[in-house]
Amino acid sequence: MMEALVKYDVLIGLEVHAQLNTKTKIWCGCEINVHAAENTTVCEICSGQPGTLPTFNKSVVELATKVALATNCKINHCSYFDRKNYFYPDMPKGYQITQHQLAIAGDGFVEIVDEDGIDKKIRIKKIQLEEDSGKLTHLGQSTLVNLNRAGVPLIEVVGEPDLKTPKEAIKYLKNLHVLLNYLEVSKGQLQDGNFRCDVNISLQAKGSLKGGVRTETKNLNSFKNIEKAIEIEIIRQAEILDRGDKVLQVTLNFDADNVTMNILRAKSNEQDYRYFPEADLMPIYVTLEQEMKWQGEIPELPVQKMNRFVLDFKIPGPDAKFLTSNKELANYFEEVLTYFNGEPKKVSNWIMSELLRLLNEENLEINDSPIKPIDLAELLNFINDGELSGKQAKEVFLHMFTDHKQASQVIKDLGLKQVKDTATLEMMAQKIVEDHPEQRGQYHSGNERIFGFFIGLMMKETNGQASPQLTNEIMKNILDKNR
Ligand code: ZN
Ligand code: MN
Repeated sequence: MMEALVKYDVLIGLEVHAQLNTKTKIWCGCEINVHAAENTTVCEICSGQPGTLPTFNKSVVELATKVALATNCKINHCSYFDRKNYFYPDMPKGYQITQHQLAIAGDGFVEIVDEDGIDKKIRIKKIQLEEDSGKLTHLGQSTLVNLNRAGVPLIEVVGEPDLKTPKEAIKYLKNLHVLLNYLEVSKGQLQDGNFRCDVNISLQAKGSLKGGVRTETKNLNSFKNIEKAIEIEIIRQAEILDRGDKVLQVTLNFDADNVTMNILRAKSNEQDYRYFPEADLMPIYVTLEQEMKWQGEIPELPVQKMNRFVLDFKIPGPDAKFLTSNKELANYFEEVLTYFNGEPKKVSNWIMSELLRLLNEENLEINDSPIKPIDLAELLNFINDGELSGKQAKEVFLHMFTDHKQASQVIKDLGLKQVKDTATLEMMAQKIVEDHPEQRGQYHSGNERIFGFFIGLMMKETNGQASPQLTNEIMKNILDKNR
């Protein structure tokens, strides 16, 4: 693919469909529930029976407006719906109600950091409201139709073709995905299909002003598949152009199992959809007062939170970026800090290594962590106060995670009482120092690194149960006394 990127200018534009997090569908009162049995959350409206009329679920306006404001879009204070006509079993009405001519918002951008580390604005052409279609499952010769998803509200975020590489595309998608997570407007679960992406790609000779022919790859639903699909399509088009042939305007389907592209159909032109205004619905009005109210309700967004973490907590930028890539994770981190009396960096390290490793192994989300923030803080305070060694803490942590117990309880159960008896530790230290005159000499002639040698012996002597802080203090004193 690198060859193709050198030879051609690649233009990638993404259309993201995200399901809005409402209780009921956009034109009827049917419940939205991904776990419901097939065709059980369906009525005469969302199954497209003749003679039924849609009733607009106004709560979607607030959600869409918040996304628009968070992506720097301008709000259209009056917009309306169109019918997009097509015939397919996933849409029994024979048309999708969407916004074509005048969407609720547009002309915004999402910022990414490109592969050279430079901030780059990816323009958003428009954000439109529309309804989702049903879902088809192909089984051998037959196809099953499930209309539970028909009429679920969507926003489609239409991006301009400002992305140049698969990696940039993924960065843009992840930023958008995190924004939706922060705004709580969408569940954004890729695996459940409530965050899906269509990819438009065209190639043109470097520096050429003549745009290439664009293909569209439909309904990609994992970051990994999206990246792979873009790579494969760039290579496919480059090979066609290298041969001197023409790329055809087609709709493609990415086969994730075989990592190949299949041509689905010649891409429809806009005219084919016979767009016209939806007469069964009123226009959507957003007043300036509403816009300002919703603007005021937008929470701290990822970039602001990341900057605050770096400034206030003095943790490294990459750590702050990682922690703020998920609102729940960022909240968890901040909650631990409210109970912890040491440096925040210790908390971020512990979360990013120990906690996330166990959560990943168990396939758990941060909110389902068996160790609550206050309990992690208790454990880290034990380390910080010199009550537990790092090694002991890891053992305690494992028990907390699997047995759902608090740190103090696990310490009691395991008999991990630390040796904090100063007199005993002083006697041990004295003996060790006397037994190692050579190392003692090195220490006194300025080799500070040899100090670790003495501490190592102390830990061995106490089976690692000595309080590290106290041991350090005592060993320093004894060494100074035996000068
Ligand atoms: Zn319904
Ligand atoms: Mn759409």
